[in-house]
Order: sequence, then structure tokens, then C-alpha cells
Amino acid sequence: MHILITGGAGFIGSHLVDLHLARGDQVMVVDDLSTGVRANLIAHEDNPLFRFEQADVLTWDRLGHVVGWADRVYHLAAVVGVYRVIAEPTKVLATNIAGTERLLRAAHDGGWKPQVVIASSSEVYGHNDEHILHEDQDLTVSTRAGTRWGYSVSKIADEALGLSYAQRFGIPAVVSRFFNTIGPRQVGRYGMVVPRFVAQAVRNEPITVFGGGLQTRSFCDVRDTVVALDSLATHAGRQTVTANVGNDREISIRDLAKLVIERAQSNSVIKDVPLREAYGEDFEDIRRRRPDLARLRTLTGFHHRHKLEDTIDDLIATERRNMAGEKDGHCTLVRTKSERAA
Ligand code: UDP
Repeated sequence: MHILITGGAGFIGSHLVDLHLARGDQVMVVDDLSTGVRANLIAHEDNPLFRFEQADVLTWDRLGHVVGWADRVYHLAAVVGVYRVIAEPTKVLATNIAGTERLLRAAHDGGWKPQVVIASSSEVYGHNDEHILHEDQDLTVSTRAGTRWGYSVSKIADEALGLSYAQRFGIPAVVSRFFNTIGPRQVGRYGMVVPRFVAQAVRNEPITVFGGGLQTRSFCDVRDTVVALDSLATHAGRQTVTANVGNDREISIRDLAKLVIERAQSNSVIKDVPLREAYGEDFEDIRRRRPDLARLRTLTGFHHRHKLEDTIDDLIATERRNMAGEKDGHCTLVRTKSERAA
């Protein structure tokens, strides 16, 4: 198969690259390296099946050409991470919506109609206190929290674009709503909680729990996420489908902090940080987030291979290796010193 991955130097994208190259597919990555890094792809630099292009999907003049080459496009190029969403609200909307529109238009103009996998997010469920989030529930956007919801709005727009191009022009769309993906190569500097807690724990620094810590999330190892995603796309074929992709084990953020401390055998203490201090004035956190995975399971028979504890152990081991490398003056591939300092 010919696979195009926009945002393929990023966290989830680079794991998709690993999966498809291991299977013998040809893989092309387009990434502007705004948050992705070449180090994530270093294992494939000499692989003749792999090609990389540093370019912005909003402006790149060869986008139509590579979309026409692809059998399947994973569209992951986006502005992500709470800190970036707060700092760059206009960029979130422009990049995420216009990028998706340009990609789908290229798929239509080329006439080849590749399958397009749209990366959506559990954020589209907004403030929904349902016990478990199902794909057919209404999507809600709060009017109280200023630009906080720009990311969610951009992902709802991306979904709508994908479904519209599917209905109007017959371009098969797979809309994947990711729930808190974690694992190797994820960095904490854009806000993601697990790499932040792991980095704090291995340094015996306070673990910063925001907003009380009773809020819950359901974390899925990226190596499970990409298998589920590929499986979903394969089973969907020429059909259009929207599905949650994640893990349905739910944990509170306070319990996550305790778990990371325990697994790292760390001396860290929990430091409560009010939401206002963590993110600024107009921020509303999501209280609860757990996916209903019935659709994913029914369509694909998917089951998870990675337990939360195992993922955390992996991340702790990597973080310790990185720290040792920094002390020795070695460059690390997983996360560089300058990336962490940025
Ligand atoms: N969080 C936290 N401490 C941190 C970073 C995040 O307590 O240092 C909390 C954050 O407020 C949220 C949860 O962890 O309730 C998950 O945050 P993340 O940004 O990873 O994911 P999202 O909120 O997008 O689900």
C-alpha cells in the first residue's frame, strides 16, 4: 500500500510510520516540524520505502501530487496540546480547519479518491458528564471559556469536512476520535500530563496536579492506538465511519500521580495547582473522559496489549536513560535536551 502521513514526524504519526514500514508499505511523511521532530523517524532514514518532506500542508504545492499517489492518507498535521491551543488560538483554527479542507480538496481534484483518516479528538464531546462517551452522543461546545474551545471547534469542523467530502464526492473518510494517547516520543512541554508526571517523578520534583485531581482520563498506549487505527481503516474499506479510539480504563489524575510516583519509586510529593494558575483565567477542564469502545471492537475485534502500568514503566526507563545521556553529554534520540528546555 501507499501511505501518506501528514504530521508523520509527530508522536502518533511516527508510530504509524513504524507500523506501515514494518509491513512493507511505502510511506511518505509530510511534516513542517513545528512540533514533530526528525529524530522520531531516524530509524527509517535509509529505508528505500520511506520518504520525508518538510512542508506545510497549508501551502505545499506538491500536496495534490502525493495525495494522488496514496491509497490511504492519515491526516494528523495539526496544532495540538493545551499550552499551544491557549497560546495560539488563531493558528489552531487556521491550521486545523484549512489544512483538512486543502487536503480533502486535493483528494477530490486528483480524482483518485484515497481513503482519508481524519484525526479527531475526545475534545469534541466537550463538557459531557456521561459515564461513558459514545459516538452518537451530541457534541457540545461551551460558551464560557473564551478561546479554550478553539481546538474542539476545529476538530468538529474537520469531522464535518471529512463527512461532507465523503457524502458529496465519495472520498471514504475514517474519523478517529483519539482519547488521551500516551507512550514513547510524547513530550510534556505542550501540556500532556503523563510525560510531565514521569519527568517530575524521576527527578524527585513535585508532581503538579491541576484543578484538584478528581478529574478522570482514560489513557491508551500509542502502540495500541496505531494498531486500532489501521485496523479500523482496513475494516472500513470504502465505507465512512466515525469511531472512538482509546482505552476504556478510567483513572483520576490524582491516582495517576500516585501511580507514577509508585512505579518510579520516587520521593516526589503531590503539589496541588489551581487551574487558574496552571492555564490562566479562562480555562475549563474536562471532568470526565472515558470512551465507549463497542464500535471499534465490533468493527475490528481489537484488544489492547499495553497496560497503563507497563507504559509508565517504559516511559520512566526512557526518561532515566535520557537523563543519564544528558549527564554524559550524549545526545538522545527520544527527546533532546533543547526540546525539553523549549
Ligand atoms: N494535568 C495535571 N498536571 C499537569 C498537566 C496536566 O494535573 O502537569 C491535568 C489536566 O488539567 C487534565 C489532565 O491532567 O485534567 C489531562 O491533561 P492533558 O493535557 O494531558 O490532556 P487533556 O486535558 O487534553 O485530556
